Amino acid sequence: MSPQIIDDALGAVGNTPLVRLDKIAAQWGLKCNLRMAKLEFMSVGGSIKDRIAKAMIEAAESEGKLIPGQSVVIEPTSGNTGIGIAMACAIKGYRCIITLPNKMSLEKEAALRALGAEVVRTPTEAAWDSPESHIGVAKKLQRLIPGGIILDQYRNVNNPLIHEISTGPEIVAAVVSTPSTFTRSSSGKIDVVICGAGTGGTITGVSRAIKKTHNKDCIIVGVDPKGSILAVPQELNSTDDGTLYAIEGIGYDFVPDVLSHAEVDSWIKTGDEESFAAVSVLMRSDGLLVGGSSGSALSGAEKWFKTEVGQKVAQTEGMNVVLILADGIRNYMSRPWFLRMAMEAEPSELARNIADVLKDE
Ligand code: PMP
Repeated sequence: MSPQIIDDALGAVGNTPLVRLDKIAAQWGLKCNLRMAKLEFMSVGGSIKDRIAKAMIEAAESEGKLIPGQSVVIEPTSGNTGIGIAMACAIKGYRCIITLPNKMSLEKEAALRALGAEVVRTPTEAAWDSPESHIGVAKKLQRLIPGGIILDQYRNVNNPLIHEISTGPEIVAAVVSTPSTFTRSSSGKIDVVICGAGTGGTITGVSRAIKKTHNKDCIIVGVDPKGSILAVPQELNSTDDGTLYAIEGIGYDFVPDVLSHAEVDSWIKTGDEESFAAVSVLMRSDGLLVGGSSGSALSGAEKWFKTEVGQKVAQTEGMNVVLILADGIRNYMSRPWFLRMAMEAEPSELARNIADVLKDE
């Protein structure tokens, strides 16, 4: 497709490509196809949350709730929704305040500020319903600031809806309309989707789209970090001791309204270290500069393939498994886990050769 001229950056939200992960599938000994990872870092603001930011702003505009020059859009977020909202506000002329838990990366804060948003940091350990949390502080600011409006990704129906009408159908279209991409045998449908949950908007909307219009038997697997309580049954979360996890964007200490557990068939818990290791695999084996929650999605997939149902899928030729990779490494370049992975890797043979060659010269 030839490059297009678009009216503004919001025209480049979503519509992201899917890439086959055949090398990883081969390494894991899968007969099924670990066929596609949806690359949401290719969206203009760098994450899957651009979609909901644009959708929530446009819906509020059409309901007459936003007035340029007067409205102040305030949103509690783990950062990516904020970046999408700040971008839309910059383009459309709304002021913007983002409340962001302390644990979220400096890169996210810098991107937000660069887009013209104000950023208020909040204590990570504050419970979601306490006045100090990112949600509590956003509510307080809304009360105090004239023109303040919270679009509220945790409750806004446009969050799951935009995934039902964009993310899900894009995945279906990719599979249905381009069967020639299947160099191995293919069921021709999406059999499994594995994705992380934060607000749960992505997994809920994608599940609805696929189950309603494409394959009602598609297995939807949610990935939830250890320390979060989104997984069901609740026992899955019970070994957790309230430890804070470093992975950003997935997991919560409450179940957001937009997460419909009925849309998710099973849940896998993941830890920080395995997620970081999986990020490294995606980078080194497939050249994908993804963020931490994408590592959780891959590591969740690896674990799911060891469950009873997962083993059956793994051994069935042609079944198609899709992963959603929510953001890119841009958001985490200065995080110790990434710098450790990138800079402190064991020197390779090539690195030793380089040293020798330079020494001998
Ligand atoms: N990964 C990252 C990096 C995110 O920012 C988010 C959104 N919080 C998610 C995954 C999860 O998306 P959702 O809120 O739709 O569940």
